[in-house]
Amino acid sequence: MPAVRNALIWDTGRDLAEYGDIVIKDGRISSVTAPNEAEGPILYDCRGKCLVLPGLVNAHTHVSMTLLRGLGEELPLMEWLRKKIFPIEDRLTAQNIRSGADLAVMEMLAAGVTCFADMYYFMDEVAMSVLESGIRAALCRGIMGDDPGKLAENLALAETYNGREGRITVQLGPHAPYTVPRPALEKIAETARDKNLGIHFHWLETKGELDSFRNEYKMEPADYLEQTGLLGAKELILAHCVWHPVDQLPAVARDNVTFVHNPKSNMKLGSGYAPIKEFISSGVRVALGTDGAASNNRLDMWDEMRFAALLHKGYNLDPTVAGAREILKMATVNGSRGVGFRDAGFIAAGQRADMMIVDMDNPRYVGRDPGSVPEFVVYAGSSRDVRATIVDGKVLYKDGEFTTLDSEKILSAASRDRASLTR
Ligand SMILES: [Zn+2]
Repeated sequence: MPAVRNALIWDTGRDLAEYGDIVIKDGRISSVTAPNEAEGPILYDCRGKCLVLPGLVNAHTHVSMTLLRGLGEELPLMEWLRKKIFPIEDRLTAQNIRSGADLAVMEMLAAGVTCFADMYYFMDEVAMSVLESGIRAALCRGIMGDDPGKLAENLALAETYNGREGRITVQLGPHAPYTVPRPALEKIAETARDKNLGIHFHWLETKGELDSFRNEYKMEPADYLEQTGLLGAKELILAHCVWHPVDQLPAVARDNVTFVHNPKSNMKLGSGYAPIKEFISSGVRVALGTDGAASNNRLDMWDEMRFAALLHKGYNLDPTVAGAREILKMATVNGSRGVGFRDAGFIAAGQRADMMIVDMDNPRYVGRDPGSVPEFVVYAGSSRDVRATIVDGKVLYKDGEFTTLDSEKILSAASRDRASLTR
């Protein structure tokens, strides 16, 4: 059986990193043995110099927005959306969605991301990009307004792709409370429960949204989640949650609910600081995401981890908040579980063989020891250190090369599409 050989291994289930071989069978880890013991083909020989971590999960993004990167810089969220983003989104074609998705998958695989959760449209194109590239994804069709046609498209996406190759989950994708009227949202929540599907929703990204709950809807956000039926979805992925009131966390501390923290996007758009210290202490599952490339502007989860780890220490005046181990938990197992893959996120027998291989034979890792690996990764490491990315036991990226993607073709298609959109 193929194996990743002689690696230093760490995941959030371990106190200390240890050396071993990771043996893979049928896309799953079949065992972790002592180093240089596994027989059979070598998938990657770490020679004791590379670290293996579970693959990173980008739990909220809009991959095809790579084509919109750099547009409308430094505008407030609503102005940015209405003046710059929505008008171009109205003109995006299926071809554009595919080339933007391919570009994003390339960027993420090179940075150790093995799974992403996406909300957009022409989602069949994103699904094809996922299937052909070999990455894992949770997909939904973004639904705005009261539009049965869009809900039907989302259901067709689920019918065709949910569970496909064990690499895709499909959620329903109502966009946000301010873009979907309440009766339509209730219908979507009911449909999700009937079809046993999850929901992916933008939630309280800006202070204005919280003000609307109190001044216009005359209700508290947690009551809205309950009364619309959203809390009953198989999995409820709530993106941003910057302004979710901290006294209303018990209602969402449930196994089917995940708050996705997008610190860089929230900072860049001036939306605020999500109180993740309180989220975590209340028992809410928190994952990490980049949001779209137009508001980040990278799809780099290493960057997101480092940013989250530093931001909350400064904000809380407390260096114990958002520790490296907690941050890695958010970026790996919490993301996997949150987006519907409950058997990924650890380097252990029976888990899906999703992992990244990190070169530690470089100046940033001198001084690490088995007890300080997560701290070196989060505070000193960089996505530049990723040597290989493996999904379902298949090497998709190795030493600068993509095994399933034609990088030149993807770069030229994306450049051509971007030029046509902004001409
Ligand atoms: Zn978003």
